[in-house]
Amino acid sequence: MEMFDHIGLAPRIDELRERCPGNRFHFRELTLDEQRTPTLDFGRLPGTQYNYYGKVNQNDLDRALRASLAANHALYPEYGVEYLDSVQDGDAVRVRLRHGGEEGTVEEVTVPWLVGTDGSRSSVRAGLGLAFEQREGASMSMSMVDARLEGFRGDRNWVNYYVSEKGFMLVTGLPGGKFRLYLAGELEKLLQDAPPQKAFQQGLDFFDTGARIAEMDWSSTWEIRKIVGETYSKGRVILCGDATHVHSPAGGQGMNACMQDAFNLGWKLALLIQRRAQPGVLESYGAERRPIAQQVTAGADRMHQILFNASIPVAERFKLTQDPAWHDEAILRISALSHNYRGVDGTLGSVELPASAPLPGDRAPDCVLSEQPPRMRLYDALRHPGFTLLVVPESSEQVYAAYAECASQLRRAFGHLVRTLLVTPVRVPGIDPDELLLDPLQQVQATYGGAANQLILVRPDLYIGFRGTLGETLGLQAYVGKWVPAARLGP
Ligand SMILES: Cc1cc2nc3c(=O)[nH]c(=O)nc-3n(C[C@H](O)[C@H](O)[C@H](O)COP(=O)(O)OP(=O)(O)OC[C@H]3O[C@@H](n4cnc5c(N)ncnc54)[C@H](O)[C@@H]3O)c2cc1C
Repeated sequence: MEMFDHIGLAPRIDELRERCPGNRFHFRELTLDEQRTPTLDFGRLPGTQYNYYGKVNQNDLDRALRASLAANHALYPEYGVEYLDSVQDGDAVRVRLRHGGEEGTVEEVTVPWLVGTDGSRSSVRAGLGLAFEQREGASMSMSMVDARLEGFRGDRNWVNYYVSEKGFMLVTGLPGGKFRLYLAGELEKLLQDAPPQKAFQQGLDFFDTGARIAEMDWSSTWEIRKIVGETYSKGRVILCGDATHVHSPAGGQGMNACMQDAFNLGWKLALLIQRRAQPGVLESYGAERRPIAQQVTAGADRMHQILFNASIPVAERFKLTQDPAWHDEAILRISALSHNYRGVDGTLGSVELPASAPLPGDRAPDCVLSEQPPRMRLYDALRHPGFTLLVVPESSEQVYAAYAECASQLRRAFGHLVRTLLVTPVRVPGIDPDELLLDPLQQVQATYGGAANQLILVRPDLYIGFRGTLGETLGLQAYVGKWVPAARLGP
């Protein structure tokens, strides 16, 4: 949702989605009262206004994205065009595309970069000759249906996980009134002998949900695999999303992870296309996103053990949910808010920060600046394609002058690539109002762990790139210069 928010699409998705507070775990072999039923409550997520799951119909989402592309960029992605193969040739990639099915016409296009977002069976990846095999553990299968239910005793708003020694079931309401059901483990084998409606009904009865399937839409069975590709790009061909990592759907993290790949890549690719990027910018995409894919896979694995691992007794699986750290770690991981690029990107200058403060490499947390209409959040000020420098000064003429000098140096070095903002509770005479971000309650300082007289640089994809003192403008320029050559460095 934050990514949609960044491109102005969140209000539309808000209209389309059904709000889901989180996950509820029902362990069939245990008698648990409401109090002890483990839940993952996304309402407890800190530093974001999107503290819930949004359940959205994929076709609606697709239409919303297309409408946004058409309205804002006059772009119209085509359906029914198949990627066949490609050849890298100097500064370009020659790609063969087929229109209109097997008997259709073949078109050859030449593009500066090719991004393979063609899913886990990616032809683009195959064309690069990259291996994509599961190395450890057996894959397992899972089935799903969309259905109209009558008499469901649970809460349709939540994602209800039903866990048993015999298998797993998921039941949750969808926008429009229907339900999504998943079945796995021993119970899924019922599908070998019975039609889907009957098998899923047996699952619902087994978990005593009270629900009867009144009508069924469609069903599907797929294999859960766990693979993280070794290479995210080769020359001018880049892989993104399921084309380069797949994992257990436990927790439902796949789409977020795939969109974040694209969000990480987008601004870097823009610099490359504009021929402004420093060498190594593309490599940073894989260097940053591959460890995240590994973390997502490890996190999904932990949830997988609770939901699906028949070799662990249900009481043991319940115990895994009782670790006091489990809840907060899980919601932060599943929402992807705790994923970070620490150790891969980010420069920390000589500032002393409390342990809870967000560091370079972390996602830049959002906060409310003003509840009064027009309601204003920090992310509203970050909604542009470049870097943003936040300076939270202690009020003194000297500090304002230091800010103005820093902003002017950045403009000379990087033009409009870096937007600079002075974050203050009140207007400051002599500073361009476009460079002032009013924060009457001083929420930015509180959220960023006492940020007075500091430089906080937020990357275009909303991660912190640099934190330092107001005196460390050279370090800041060196950091930005790592991405884009500076026209002129220094004062
Ligand atoms: C049953 C199930 C439930 C899931 N539930 C969740 C969930 O609750 N939350 C979540 O975040 N994630 C979930 N996921 C994961 C999520 O769906 C995927 O991670 C995500 O869709 C991957 O996006 P992608 O764009 O990389 O690939 P895909 O969604 O697979 O898209 C690839 C596209 O490329 C097209 N394509 C393939 N080959 C070619 C070609 N040669 N030429 C042209 N086009 C081609 C395909 O038709 C497809 O449209 C679930 C996955 C499954 C299977």
